[in-house]
This record gives sequence, structure tokens and C-alpha cells, in this order.
Amino acid sequence: METKKQSNYFRKNINKMRGYIPGEQPQDGVYIKLNTNENPYSPSPKVLAALKDAVNEKLRLYPDPSATSVKEKVAKVFGTKPERVMVGNGSDELLTIAIRCFVGEGDVVVYPYPTYLLYKTLSEIQEAKTCIVDYLEDYSLPEEILVRGAAVTFICNPNSPSGTMIPVDKISNVAGKIDGILVIDEAYVDFANDNCLRLVDNHPNLIVLRTLSKSYSLAGMRLGFAIAQEELIDGLVKVKDSYNVDRLSMTAAITALDDQNTFRENVTKIKKTRERLIDSLKKLEFFVYPSQANFVMIRCLDALSAKGIYQRLKEQKILIRYIEQPRLEDCLRITVGTDEEINALLEKLAEIKNSLKIL
Ligand SMILES: *Cc1c(COP(=O)(O)O)cnc(C)c1O
Repeated sequence: METKKQSNYFRKNINKMRGYIPGEQPQDGVYIKLNTNENPYSPSPKVLAALKDAVNEKLRLYPDPSATSVKEKVAKVFGTKPERVMVGNGSDELLTIAIRCFVGEGDVVVYPYPTYLLYKTLSEIQEAKTCIVDYLEDYSLPEEILVRGAAVTFICNPNSPSGTMIPVDKISNVAGKIDGILVIDEAYVDFANDNCLRLVDNHPNLIVLRTLSKSYSLAGMRLGFAIAQEELIDGLVKVKDSYNVDRLSMTAAITALDDQNTFRENVTKIKKTRERLIDSLKKLEFFVYPSQANFVMIRCLDALSAKGIYQRLKEQKILIRYIEQPRLEDCLRITVGTDEEINALLEKLAEIKNSLKIL
């Protein structure tokens, strides 16, 4: 039998695509990690205790396929009904499920740019036609986001990597005007002043995605949820794996959502550090985009200086995010860490700035 080149086994679109490239996750632990928007604070001690307790003989049993207890907790904390909630293995899984539900080959996916790169990867897997519309200079939403006939429109709000936020009334306007599904990815919304949950009542085409990865310090557990009207939830659920959320993630989620005090304390600290970081970056003469997230994007003089700063910080064991994509070449994204981490960053940044001036 003639053997094929291994790449020939793949669908053409998979061969052509690059695959999503996550931020660096060095495993040696010597870095100050300000590159992937993780929470610098520990999950609630109650979560850690509950997890230890849940490591028992019951792990031989499959978890509840519909994650009922998590849906009930989410409904209670967010003021909705369990029937309007779907739980996922991180919100990335819910993005995958949504696109598999609504987008077939040649269907149109719309999103503004620059944004979360996963929307592009998922569109490529589906062989979708993408309609990528540029954010305006100040990261407000362009009129062209309204594409009739699009299967899905994704908006990340607050947006990554810019940290900027589209006002909720503008989102409501989009949801009302388009005839396809609108997915609002609210991964960072707990660090913002507003959110889109109240729009779900009036918009049968709206799906709001949340995650415990950022604001609840649980990126390592993988738990996200979607909130939408019942009919959408019922359809989305058909496409998921039977046991998509494991027992331990469910335990972590319920306990984390139950401990709103720890959550609020950590979010408050991060927002306070964010404001101090923004002020200091402005003093260092960077252009700072207004942020409602747990990270801040700055613009440097040019691409060379952005890349230089990123590399020099890395040499000094501080990791931030440099994204080599159009419109971002002269930008850097910095996750809000602890006060100590941010002090270390600011100190090094000031040194680098000075030495670059001399060069
Ligand atoms: C972190 C992030 C997610 C993924 O969250 P998980 O729940 O960890 O899968 C989704 N969207 C955006 C924009 C993110 O930054």
C-alpha cells in the first residue's frame, strides 16, 4: 500500500491553519508572570479545603453530566435561572461548542480586531468565512460590526489585549440589529464597571460567557459558563461531551462562587493595583489604553522599542505579553500582578527606559 505524507491525512483547512498559540507558560517558576492574565492571588482557602475533601473514593464515579449543582449556584449568584445556564470545561470549551452549533462551512463569523485570537482558530476549524472588522483607533466599535446574515458575531468585552470596554447599551444595540448569534465573551468582566447579563432577557440571540479562570483564580481548574435564554442553552447542551466538567472542577466552582468575600477582596486589590500601574506607566511616558480588565495595554514609541522592552524584561525574569500581529507590534500587554510584582516591573521598566534613551 502506498503511504501518504502524514499531512495528507488532515482536512485541507487544518493543514493550512497555524493553531492557537497560548502565552508562554514556563514550568521552572522563576519568572514574575505577567503575560497570561492569571490572578496573582491564591484561590479561596475554602476552595482548597473543599478540593482536598473531594479527593476520595467517589472519583470512580462519573460526574453529574448536567452539572446541576453548579448551574443552581450560578443562577443564585447571578440572579438567573438554572435553565439559562450551561457549564463548560473553561469558557474556551463553550466558545468551541457555540461555533460548532451555529457555524458550518462557508458560514460567516464576524469579530472586531485586534481581539482574542481563539475566534480566528475556531473559525478556521469550521471552514467559516471570517469578516474581521477593525476596531476604531480608540477601540470603540465600528459600524461595520453589523453584518446581516452572519451566523455568529463574537465580541470580547472587556476586550483582550486592549483592556477596553464597549458600553452595554452599544452591545444591546448590536444584539438587536443583527440577525445571527451574538457571543459576548466576558472573561474579564468582574474587573469592569458593568456587564451584559441584564441583556439576556431581551435578546434571544445573545450568549454571555463567563469564566472562573481570571477573577476567581481558578485557571488551573477549567470552569466556565454560558448564560442565555432556555432555547439556546438546550441546543448548546446537545453538542457537549457527556461529562465535560469533572467532579473536582464542580466542587471548586461551587465553593468559589459561595465565597464572594474572598472574590471581592481579590478583585478590589487587583483594581487598585491596576490604577496605580496605569498612573506609573503614564509617568514613564507610555500611552496607556483605558483598562477595565486585570491587564493593561501600553503603546511604545515603535515596534523595535516594544520588542526590546519585552526581551529585556524577559532577560530579567519578568514575562509580559508581546503580540506580533498587525496593530499590536508597538504594544505590550501587562497583567496586573501583586503590588510587589508590579513594583519590580516598574523599577525594571524605568531602568530600561533610561538605558534606551542613552542608546
Ligand atoms: C482567558 C480567556 C478565556 C478562557 O477562559 P477559560 O475559562 O480559562 O477557558 C476566554 N476568553 C478570553 C478573552 C480570555 O482571555
